Amino acid sequence: MSEAAIIDGKAFAARLRQTIAAEVAVLKAEHGLTPGLAVVLVGEDPASQVYVRSKGEQTLEAGMHSETHRLPAETSQAELLALVERLNSDPAVHGVLVQFPVPDHISQAAVVAAISPDKDVDGLTVANAGRLASGLPALTPCTPTGCMMLLRDQLGELSGKRAVVIGRSNLMGKPMAQLLLAADCTVTIAHSRTKDLPAVVREADIVVAAVGRAQMVKADWIKPGAVVIDVGINRIPKEDGKTRLVGDVAFDEVKAVASAITPVPGGVGPMTIACLLANTVLAAKRLNGIGE
Ligand code: NAP
Repeated sequence: MSEAAIIDGKAFAARLRQTIAAEVAVLKAEHGLTPGLAVVLVGEDPASQVYVRSKGEQTLEAGMHSETHRLPAETSQAELLALVERLNSDPAVHGVLVQFPVPDHISQAAVVAAISPDKDVDGLTVANAGRLASGLPALTPCTPTGCMMLLRDQLGELSGKRAVVIGRSNLMGKPMAQLLLAADCTVTIAHSRTKDLPAVVREADIVVAAVGRAQMVKADWIKPGAVVIDVGINRIPKEDGKTRLVGDVAFDEVKAVASAITPVPGGVGPMTIACLLANTVLAAKRLNGIGE
């Protein structure tokens, strides 16, 4: 059998950002509407700073309004919630994103609960999770939304496919499973208590790995011809003492069995910010009664 196609998420995300920029230009010209994203960062976590900077830059590049609120690590929960409230009622802001993790003295759940579901471009509020599960229009979490775009691009019709999602987090595994179900896949959600995980995964036409364990998914877990989406981002040591990024899938061996696979880096990762921009545009249109 020939080797798997390598799904180029970086190129796909670049095309998606161009499409979004074109839509933003139309919204500005025809409706006087500039979609706006506010990102809030509390503290100085180095990885979060990189993500927040990229989000701001890519929002501006798409012609959108971008604001970044950097708060000191000692900001109280009440102060943060007050800022979220202000952004909820700011007409220039259509998406509100608080970068996680927040410092330990702040409850992540309280922060999520404070975000207006209409501006919840991370799709994390109970309202949006419930809407997704109920088949109602929702803002859906960015990374699973990006995975669905890559899958549709690769496979076309997803109806009737057997999908196994490894991981059941609110951010990734659960919404991924709901999106696959909404696309008429037959979906299994696996997790750390799943018995005989390799046998479960071998049933799948579509495998989505969102675990956070380096190279856990092996070639002999994969049904020949399956499409493999690797969400994991893990840093492992190299021989020279530096580190490198790998996914949850043993890429080199799995690509000999799968029909298509996302690499890490350059697969799912770049889709996340592009989908954040897409969600902000969607939220802006819905908040202004503009049809999709
Ligand atoms: P998480 O909240 O830690 O969830 C991990 C899930 O994996 C849990 O449901 C856990 O099961 C399951 N799991 C752990 N060990 C397992 C094992 N040995 N066998 C089967 N299942 C196992 O992580 P997350 O936020 O969903 O993220 C998952 C990975 O995706 C991480 O590497 C993260 O960095 C990456 N990620 C990437 C992006 C991106 O932009 N590309 C976005 C989000 C996340 P239990 O529920 O039973 O504990």
